[in-house]
Amino acid sequence: MNKIPYKIYLEESEMPRKWYNLRADMKNKPAPLLNPATMQPMTKADLAPVFCNDLIDQELDETTPFFDIPEEILDFYKMYRPSPVVRAYFLEKALGTPAKIYYKFEGNNTSGSHKLNSAIAQAYYAKKQGLKGVTTETGAGQWGTALSMACAFFGLDCRVYMVKVSYEQKPFRREVMRTYGASITPSPSDTTKVGRKILEEFPGTTGSLGCAISEAVESAVSSEGYRYVLGSVLSQVLLHQSVIGLEAKAALDKYQIAPDIIIGCAGGGSNLGGLIAPFMGEKLRGEKDYRFIAVEPASCPSLTRGKYAYDFCDTGMVCPLAKMYTLGSSFMPSANHAGGLRYHGMSSVLSQLYADGLMEAVSVEQTSVFAAAQLFARTEGTLPAPESSHAIRAAIDEALKCKETGEEKTILFGLTGTGYFDMTAYQKFNDGEMSDVIPSDEDIAKSLAKLPKVD
Ligand SMILES: *Cc1c(COP(=O)(O)O)cnc(C)c1O
Repeated sequence: MNKIPYKIYLEESEMPRKWYNLRADMKNKPAPLLNPATMQPMTKADLAPVFCNDLIDQELDETTPFFDIPEEILDFYKMYRPSPVVRAYFLEKALGTPAKIYYKFEGNNTSGSHKLNSAIAQAYYAKKQGLKGVTTETGAGQWGTALSMACAFFGLDCRVYMVKVSYEQKPFRREVMRTYGASITPSPSDTTKVGRKILEEFPGTTGSLGCAISEAVESAVSSEGYRYVLGSVLSQVLLHQSVIGLEAKAALDKYQIAPDIIIGCAGGGSNLGGLIAPFMGEKLRGEKDYRFIAVEPASCPSLTRGKYAYDFCDTGMVCPLAKMYTLGSSFMPSANHAGGLRYHGMSSVLSQLYADGLMEAVSVEQTSVFAAAQLFARTEGTLPAPESSHAIRAAIDEALKCKETGEEKTILFGLTGTGYFDMTAYQKFNDGEMSDVIPSDEDIAKSLAKLPKVD
């Protein structure tokens, strides 16, 4: 067998041509989205005013295992994919671990993250439907940037509601999006009914993804020729992101490498759901076994401290109800730097897998995440996004356990993006001014008490 290279690339001809729908192999399907007005499962007709038609079909389909990736999207993917699987030889050496660590690097495009994989798909289906434009929210800014790029490519208008704390901390993110032609509004704003209501209830709030979603949905449904698109959480997004896992598996298979542990950070669950998809499929079909670990911030711990229940996907309670691990849609994470992971809920697919004991979850504190990020930057060279660094932390912790036991486990983790726009957070860490904010049991109980009643 060949020596394993530092970077395993696929040829263009080896790129996946279909997305994989993990739900097709799940015995216990994720619970359906509910219409908050009737408490009945959402139908295509219910969803049509908000979402693009083809994306609704993908959202509601839990039986078709593979979807062809349209040629236009494949061509766009070729600009920045396939992305490499990298062997972290230098990190292994620094840790003195017998573990073999690999990471799938998704930061090699201007948006700086995996989000472009779904953004281009969603923009494609919006264009195909003949829409004028789309609205969305963005937390840390990666999704908004990815969608701006995708909309520019297909000539669509793009309205982005950006969580206020990020809008203020990351002015250059905003400029990148404007360069691609998007318009950016800090959220909560006074441009929507729901934004005005949230501002009244929580004066001075620095916003949350949940608030920004409510504003973006209102903006879409009240504008002719617009639909709302979402960069995470939804099953259609996990479907598009399966390209990450399919590529990673094809690359590892080339060298007969089978990971023992697969790790990803979890905000709404899209990169993790995409990375684990083909591996989890094998586990569900009883062909192979793997350990899967979701890593979330201790400041916003939906899997590890939330409740598995129906909840609203947004703070303004205008979106459908999803059954998921949630901290409650009124949960306001502290204004810390977990950026893209500050979401109160979790993908319903991952929630069901976690409830069924097929996946583990850990929460990690911010200062330990940045210590891992620093070590990674200094050894592997790439400046990681803070979100991705949650996965780095967990991968290092598993590798250190191997050092104690002497086991040569193979670890694969998702390096979802780069951290160039997160230098305010890095600065806090470098100055020793970063703190770990962990919500109290009372804080969580308070927002969970407001969960909608569903029987
Ligand atoms: C958005 C984002 C995440 C978290 O989102 P998921 O949907 O949970 O994948 C993680 N890493 C980066 C770099 C991101 O931009």
